[in-house]
Amino acid sequence: MDLGIRDRVALVAAASRGLGRAAAEALAAEGARVAIAARGEEVLLAAAREIGASTGASVMPVVADVRSPQDLEALVARVQREYGGVDILVNNAGGPKPGVFSQMSDEDWMAAVELNLLSTIRLTRLVLPGMRERGWGRIINITSIAVKQPIPNLILSNAVRSGVVAMARTLADEVASEGVTVNNVCPGYMLTDRVRSLNEAAARAEGLAVEEVARRTVASIPVGRMGRPEELGALIAFLSSQQAAYVTGATIQMDGGQFRGLM
Ligand code: NAD
Repeated sequence: MDLGIRDRVALVAAASRGLGRAAAEALAAEGARVAIAARGEEVLLAAAREIGASTGASVMPVVADVRSPQDLEALVARVQREYGGVDILVNNAGGPKPGVFSQMSDEDWMAAVELNLLSTIRLTRLVLPGMRERGWGRIINITSIAVKQPIPNLILSNAVRSGVVAMARTLADEVASEGVTVNNVCPGYMLTDRVRSLNEAAARAEGLAVEEVARRTVASIPVGRMGRPEELGALIAFLSSQQAAYVTGATIQMDGGQFRGLM
């Protein structure tokens, strides 16, 4: 299926590794012109080279910390200058620190809001006027299955990502008649560097082998394995497509069936 996004301009935040990178690769494979942003220059440049080589697409790496309003302004200005207005925005960031309620200070809460909620709001604010003017836009937020089913020991992630979903659902209504869709994707366990390092930390804390921790996780997933980042990339590419014009305000999980609720 041709997704109808050849030459569309896509901006993927936090995309030097993992799910962001997989989203960028899927969009590039569809012929979109893709800009990727992350903090560390070396890994980012390597990611841009590798995605360019595997897809034949033009990929622009821009160093930016999604917590910095100045970085985000410079990022969007550069993409607009070199590629034109952003048609597809994939909001993403690292995850906030793990822990329980009694461990979190005001600073911890503010840091999580800045990383996961405000970064999404700020980037969206920067690209939305152009999308509305052109009458076409796709905004996709990478959140977590935690917005449907809170995960123990991740209180910051659970709470702040729910704010992203509520914001996106409200915004979806505000721009629905102008050709702009706003959706959230909710990964369960997708095998990325972050999940590998969380498994390693759990193994250390519990004195278990890392394979044992991974086996325990997989045992809770009906499909019987962790997800592959490129599977989430494919969902994001579809939500970015011409064909997905009628999907907006949705919060779609990709979790191998782990979430047992009805919606
Ligand atoms: P990852 O650690 O593999 O990759 C994170 C990417 O974000 C990297 O490119 C990193 O450089 C970039 N990044 C981190 N902080 C940044 C910042 N402040 N500014 C710019 N770039 C930044 O992580 P991942 O597994 O791909 O996860 C991506 C997001 O999805 C995270 O918020 C994570 O919590 C969430 N998530 C992941 C899973 C999963 O199973 N992998 C499940 C649910 C939610």
